[in-house]
Amino acid sequence: MTTITVAKGDGIGPEIMDATLKIILAAGAAINIEEITVGEAVYLAGNAAGIAPEAWETIRRNKIFLKAPITTPQGGGYKSLNVTTRKFLGLYSNVRPCMSLHPFVSTKHPAMDLVIVRENEEDLYAGIEHQQTDEVVQCLKLISRPGCEKIVRYAFEYARQQVRKKVTCFTKDNIMKQTDGLFHRVFDEIAKEYPDIENEHWIIDIGAAKMADTPQAFDVLVMPNLYGDVLSDVAAQIAGSVGLAGSANIGEECAMFEAIHGSAPRRAGQNMANPSGLLQGAVMMLNHIGQTDVAEKVQNAWLKTIEDGIHTYDIFKEGTSKLKVGTSEFADAVITNLGKKPSELKPVTYAQNAALTLPRYQRKPQLAKELIGVDVFVHWSGSNPDELAGIVSKIEADGIKLKMITNRGIKVWPDGFKETFCTDHWRCRFQAESGVTMSKSFIVELLSKCINEKIDSIKTENLYTFDGTPGFSLGQGQ
Ligand code: NAD
Repeated sequence: MTTITVAKGDGIGPEIMDATLKIILAAGAAINIEEITVGEAVYLAGNAAGIAPEAWETIRRNKIFLKAPITTPQGGGYKSLNVTTRKFLGLYSNVRPCMSLHPFVSTKHPAMDLVIVRENEEDLYAGIEHQQTDEVVQCLKLISRPGCEKIVRYAFEYARQQVRKKVTCFTKDNIMKQTDGLFHRVFDEIAKEYPDIENEHWIIDIGAAKMADTPQAFDVLVMPNLYGDVLSDVAAQIAGSVGLAGSANIGEECAMFEAIHGSAPRRAGQNMANPSGLLQGAVMMLNHIGQTDVAEKVQNAWLKTIEDGIHTYDIFKEGTSKLKVGTSEFADAVITNLGKKPSELKPVTYAQNAALTLPRYQRKPQLAKELIGVDVFVHWSGSNPDELAGIVSKIEADGIKLKMITNRGIKVWPDGFKETFCTDHWRCRFQAESGVTMSKSFIVELLSKCINEKIDSIKTENLYTFDGTPGFSLGQGQ
């Protein structure tokens, strides 16, 4: 018997959770349920996190969390509970299988059967955002080596366990050479440890186009957080419906299972919603806690129900579907089919516990880090970069010179183009000349000179080399 935490969520959440629990309990799931309240009611009661401390205790104690979608109220500084939960609990891997159910659910891609493994904690979802000038705001994209190693290894281990043939990585490392570049590099490193599994890398734009057009060309896909968020919805939708896909959020200690879709408030309380996405999450949960026989029974009964043409409104289609049903009738139909298998769709067999035990990340020996320059970001309302260069060069020191000014990443000084549009946010790059050793006290002096010269410096970024390799990108056009 496993005790799990359940949150019924908002919108269609309670209906699809009731349907899901009814099915898995009827199939013999050996679970105790501890229910918590999270989401809209908690937010609106004044808790900006959408979850009370006691609810965290329950989740952390039970370690397995089945969660219905919740509504994050718009505006008002409410933090997404989904993102917070994933990060607090270290749920680094988000696994989203997207499979078509042709010919029973309408799709342009009858042979589609792919799994998106989305990095779940990093990237732009760190949520570190600042307004820096009147005109410019920024969001920090954080990608770490441990984050990359964990998710890429998870994707390969998952592929091996699920007897899949290929892992594809999507990044945009032709542009983001440091962040996406690290993800791609780690992918190439780890892929070598799995010679039995094919591997490939695509630039995300053409990769996404290929996935939307020919999804059967892919098997397991691994990618940073934002790309995975967007593309897993695309994949689920082109497989048939976002209402059909579930997701597992896996960490080293805890795991959370859910549908990929949201709380669909317009459909709430009408017994209309498709409970399949959450049910797919629950099947992944049962496999994760080792109740593979129950998972198999539920999945085969679900496939049989889809095959019987018993469909909720979102996948109902005259001609292919036989009976349009509501949420609870769909659940009853699945329960009636427990013990049966689909005849045209491929029945599943789940032989083993799906929980993967991966080695813990080992921190590498530190690299030799040398400070060789500093980028000073300046708020300046002028428009002529030559004029700005004249102003900021006053803060140069011996052997440490202004090398470049960029605006939104593009070099505007020296030798900029007059056509380049400039905002009030300028990056002034100071670099040590060869043979000059630069210390951090230079940066302190430089900032104090900024005050004296009335230069509005808004932030600095140190420029380092690591074992001699520059750890920063060049300006575009540099
Ligand atoms: P949504 O996924 O709730 O709905 C998008 C569309 O899909 C709607 O037209 C809806 O009718 C349909 N749909 C979704 N699930 C369905 C189902 N099970 N059966 C039938 N049709 C279904 O996305 P949204 O409207 O952008 O977001 C609504 C709310 O959900 C927002 O507050 C958002 O923050 C939240 N949300 C929560 C989660 C989560 O809790 N994991 C995820 C995404 C969005």
